[in-house]
Amino acid sequence: MDPAGSTFIFCDGFLLVRAGGLEPAGTEALPELEQTRKVLDSFVVRPQGCVATGVSGAPDAAPAGCAWARVRALVGAESPHAATACRALGLLNWRAMHRFCGACGGPLEEHPVEIARKCAACGHVDYPSMAPAVIVRVEKEGQILLARHVQRIPDLWTCLAGYVEVGESLEDCVRREVKEEAGIDVDDVRYVGSQHWPFPNQMMVGFRARWKSGELKLQPEELSDARWFDPADLPNIPPPGSMAWRLIHGGG
Ligand SMILES: [Zn+2]
Repeated sequence: MDPAGSTFIFCDGFLLVRAGGLEPAGTEALPELEQTRKVLDSFVVRPQGCVATGVSGAPDAAPAGCAWARVRALVGAESPHAATACRALGLLNWRAMHRFCGACGGPLEEHPVEIARKCAACGHVDYPSMAPAVIVRVEKEGQILLARHVQRIPDLWTCLAGYVEVGESLEDCVRREVKEEAGIDVDDVRYVGSQHWPFPNQMMVGFRARWKSGELKLQPEELSDARWFDPADLPNIPPPGSMAWRLIHGGG
């Protein structure tokens, strides 16, 4: 699918689509949107050649014939627009948080050549950045560890995950996060795959690891519950399209 010339309109992480599907709505919806909303940013996503536009407000009322769809829904449905929508949203999120130079405080401008922003005052160049995070399938005697997270949907069971800290490797991060959140030691940490997750800016790096020692002891600020599950008898887990789903379903 060639996205060149198409327009992706976002509001608070939602994409404007044609009602009844997940097809991006395009510029014809903009005049009606602009009656009640402000365009916060609009730029060409390179090299795809589409336009990403962010509008103000909440993803509630949509123009006639349109609807707001979660970008995650496009990922889950394996929409042909999902990859471009994720890139456009990731860049939109990055630009919203990088409007001024971190070195001198001056306003950033479009870099004339690169996918970056440049400070006219001091020349500092900011490149799009992501926050690396690990997510891990921990296995013990044929069972997998799933947890309910304090900050997430109460009934959703998923893999342990956490942000990589400065100075540690991805594998160190897996061992540390599992120890901190669940109180157990793991080894045999193996890479499974990765996924850009622009909600707002993660790079999710998936691993599998084997329980080595210890009993479950939860970090109450992070987890409300954690248990070992038989893969044939799973609770409510994240939907397809996420790294968590892939890991829970075998990690292949
Ligand atoms: Zn500067």
